[in-house]
Amino acid sequence: MRKALVTGGAGFIGSHLCARLLDDGREVTAMDNLFTGSKKNIEPLLGDGRFSFVLHDVTEPFDGEFDEIYNLACPASPVHYQSNPVKTLRTSVLGMINALELARRTNARVLHTSTSEVYGDPLVHPQAENYWGNVNPVGVRSCYDEGKRCAETFAADSRREYGVDVRMVRIFNTYGPKMHPNDGRVVSNFITQALSGENLTLFGDGRQTRSFQYVDDLVEMIRRYMDLPRERVDGFFASKGMGTPVLNAGNPEEFTVRELAEEVLRLLPGTGSGTVFAPLPADDPKRRKPDISLAKELLGWQPAVPLAEGLAKTVEYFRSVSGRG
Ligand code: NAD
Ligand code: UDP
Repeated sequence: MRKALVTGGAGFIGSHLCARLLDDGREVTAMDNLFTGSKKNIEPLLGDGRFSFVLHDVTEPFDGEFDEIYNLACPASPVHYQSNPVKTLRTSVLGMINALELARRTNARVLHTSTSEVYGDPLVHPQAENYWGNVNPVGVRSCYDEGKRCAETFAADSRREYGVDVRMVRIFNTYGPKMHPNDGRVVSNFITQALSGENLTLFGDGRQTRSFQYVDDLVEMIRRYMDLPRERVDGFFASKGMGTPVLNAGNPEEFTVRELAEEVLRLLPGTGSGTVFAPLPADDPKRRKPDISLAKELLGWQPAVPLAEGLAKTVEYFRSVSGRG
């Protein structure tokens, strides 16, 4: 049986990935320090003899024999990663180094979860993998953006210098059940606000755009990518003139934040909620939309869940955990 380690396995995406890896016949270890994750997310998996949980901080080295390492440990919500910026940077960089060192010692394959934030406030639209980005190196988002960029560099160099089989996905805004209600990201904020009858907080003028991906689509993409033989991955990226296997993972349908609010209010009529404006956070990117041509070509993958459908499932989840009808 193949063995998988998922760092950040008790988080939103990590817990979905752990469940899918078990479904796919893996033995799975979730490693997490429970900073933004919760044991509740993995409770249903704990009864499975092939699943184990390790409480560990990835900034400290770790050991074990795994065929696959999925490196997800890192707070992803601006509210959380900015609350503890030095720790965020350390988690991104040292966590990546520790995952790569383990992979190098044990010959494991690594999947690193990078982010659309490496493109910063992009000057190119939509964003393809060969765009280098427009990132403020010293702003309030830098601990996350630059941490992830540095992690990418470690991954790329460990591949070039030591031959580590590391693959990277740049994830665009992803949402779904098991997001933390107080996570602070826009989808969870809008749904919890609407369920409480509060006004939805539009930051700035609400005309900035994002492209929202349902979590099941992301997990499917990651699984397809990790199952490919190394020769296929290397050959594909070489044919594109790219030295590093990095793919965007996102839903290319682009929405303004206002449109997202309208969609949430449409799904939850009669709550009495409206919208209210609040200040735009510093360095908030104005537009974001992935070019997913490479992932389509290599994996035969594209997102299958439209926003309205994914939001409806997410609303159901938040309803069930809040106890609000
Ligand atoms: P999340 O906050 O729910 O999950 C992150 C997990 O990492 C949590 O369980 C947290 O406790 C754990 N963690 C944080 N610091 C740690 C440390 N030092 N040691 C061990 N565990 C630690 O966020 P998520 O949305 O599930 O994100 C998972 C990964 O995907 C992150 O690396 C994030 O940067 C990346 N990503 C997510 C999105 C998105 O829209 N959700 C977008 C881009 C990238
Ligand atoms: N946003 C908003 N209201 C909220 C939370 C976020 O208008 O209550 C906006 C935020 O300014 C950004 C977008 O929604 O433009 C997405 O924010 P999120 O924190 O989810 O992720 P980001 O893409 O900024 O990392």
